[in-house]
Amino acid sequence: MNTLREAFLNELADVYDAEKQLTKALPKMAKASEDHSLRSGFQTHLKETENQIKRLDQVFNAIGEKTKSKRCKAMRGLIEVSEELIDEKAGDAALICAAQKVEHYEIAAYGSLRSWASILDEPQAARLLAQTFYEEKDTDQKLNDIAEIVISLEESEEGHAEH
Ligand code: FE
Ligand code: FE
Ligand code: FE
Repeated sequence: MNTLREAFLNELADVYDAEKQLTKALPKMAKASEDHSLRSGFQTHLKETENQIKRLDQVFNAIGEKTKSKRCKAMRGLIEVSEELIDEKAGDAALICAAQKVEHYEIAAYGSLRSWASILDEPQAARLLAQTFYEEKDTDQKLNDIAEIVISLEESEEGHAEH
């Protein structure tokens, strides 16, 4: 069985790759957004994501390890779904749903990582990971707020088209 420290290092490498994948996906999601606030939300989160990658470098550094990256298959799958939705022109509501699945995945990963860092007595890493954890939660909440506006707009437009 792996030690908790090994699990911690593996998960750090996984989330590092997940963030890297997102720096490529978020510009496409921004471009596909119809709603202006959704588009700028994706652009803002792209900047945050770039910063989160730097923060992961700091985490590796804080625990005396070299930065490692390991293909995150789950993020590959989540991004594939969002790419399909973009191709199908599925609309903002569907795009927000896909984006929130991504944020929830990250919240789960960083939630574990921050508590493992505390248990492993790595307070600096724990502090850095908690920062990202709250950024992802914030992003999820912002997407909730945008969804309420976007979905009611899409609904009223559909209503007009029918009558
Ligand atoms: Fe992230
Ligand atoms: Fe993963
Ligand atoms: Fe995120």
